[in-house]
Amino acid sequence: MAYRIPFNIPPYTGGEMENLRIACEVNHKICGDGPFTKECKKWIEDRTGAAECLLTTSGTDALEMASHLSGIGQGEEVIMPSYTFVSTADAFVLRGAVPVFVDIRPDTMNIDESLIEQAITDKTRAIAVVHYAGVGCEMDAVMEIARKYGLKVIEDAAQGVMSTYKGKALGVIGDYGCYSFHETKNYSMGEGGAILLRDPDQREEAEILREKGTNRSKFYRGEIDKYSWVGYGSSYLPSELNAAYLKAQLDIADKINNERLARWEQYNTLLKPLEKTGKIELPYIPSECVHNAHMYYIKTADINERQALIAAFEKNSIKAVFHYIPLHSSEAGKRFGRFNGEDRYTTKESERLLRLPMYYSLTEQDVWDVVKVIREFYNV
Ligand SMILES: *Cc1c(COP(=O)(O)O)cnc(C)c1O
Repeated sequence: MAYRIPFNIPPYTGGEMENLRIACEVNHKICGDGPFTKECKKWIEDRTGAAECLLTTSGTDALEMASHLSGIGQGEEVIMPSYTFVSTADAFVLRGAVPVFVDIRPDTMNIDESLIEQAITDKTRAIAVVHYAGVGCEMDAVMEIARKYGLKVIEDAAQGVMSTYKGKALGVIGDYGCYSFHETKNYSMGEGGAILLRDPDQREEAEILREKGTNRSKFYRGEIDKYSWVGYGSSYLPSELNAAYLKAQLDIADKINNERLARWEQYNTLLKPLEKTGKIELPYIPSECVHNAHMYYIKTADINERQALIAAFEKNSIKAVFHYIPLHSSEAGKRFGRFNGEDRYTTKESERLLRLPMYYSLTEQDVWDVVKVIREFYNV
C-alpha cells in the first residue's frame, strides 16, 4: 500500500544519475575503490577528523570489521544496550563473543553509562555504544571506564552521521566508529556503510580484512608489485556505483541536514503543548550533543495507546512505526547473550516509542498533517 505520507523515502538529490553516468561512461570503473569511493572516504575524513575511513558494504559489515579489528575472541564479553538493531550484537556473536546487555536511559534511549561498570567481568573486552536517533551517548563517562579497565570502545554511529558530542563527530571518539548508508539513513548509497579508525596504524589490517584477506589495496597504490593472501578477510568493499550515488548526497550534506533539522524542530514546536498536558513525551537532546534529525519520535502512555495511534495514522494514510524489540527478549538474544542488572526502562520505553515520518523530501505541510492526527487522537 502506498501511503500519502510514508515513513521513509530514500534520500535522492538529483545529482546521483550524473555521477552514475560518469562512473560507467567516463571512469569505466564500477567495482570498489574507484574515484567516487575515494572522494566519499576523503569527505568523511575531512568532516569527522577520523584518522582513517574505509567505505564498507553496510553498517553491519563496518561493525563486523570493528569486531575483528578489536580482536575480541570466543567467550569474551561485550557490553551493549539491548535496545538496538541486531547487527550491534551479531558482529560480536560471529566471533563467539557474548553480548552483555545493560539498561538504557529513558531520556535518550542510549546505554545508561552509570550501569556499565557493574557489568564488567574478567571476560569483558569491549563496550559497544549505540547513538540512538543520532544523539550522542555520554562518551566522556564511557571513555573513562574503558581507559580504567583497558576496554575497546566501538561506536555504532549508524544513525549518527553529521552529529557531534562536545564538538567531536560521533564515530571518532571510540576506537572504531561505524556508519550506515542504508536507504533508511540520512545519507544513502542503497546498502553501504563506513568504518572509522582512531588508530591509523590499523589501516593496513583493515584494508586486508576488507579485500578478502589480500594486500590488494597496497598493490593498487603501487607499494608492492604483486598481491597475495596475507590473512583472514572477507568482501566488505562496496561497488563504485554505490559510492557514486552517495557522493551526490555528501556534496549537499549541509542542505540535507538543515532541512531535516527544520522538520524536526517543526514537529517539536507543534507538539510541545501536547507534552505539557502530560499526554505524550518528546525527545531529549543533552546540551553536549548536536544531533542530525535522524529520527523524530514521541512516547505514548503505553503499548495499547501506541497501537491505537498507529491505527489512527493508518486511517489517514500516514505511516508511523515502532522500533526495536529489545534484543535480550528475542530468541537469539536469549541464546547468545545475557542481561546484566534490572530491565527498568529497556522494555517499558521501547513499547511506548513511536517514530513519525522523517525524510529529506518531507514537507512543512506533511508535518502539519501528521501533527493534526496526533492532536485529534488526544482531543487537543
Ligand atoms: C541501520 C543500523 C545498523 C545497520 O546498518 P546496515 O547498513 O543496514 O547494515 C546498525 N546499527 C544501527 C543502530 C542502525 O540503525
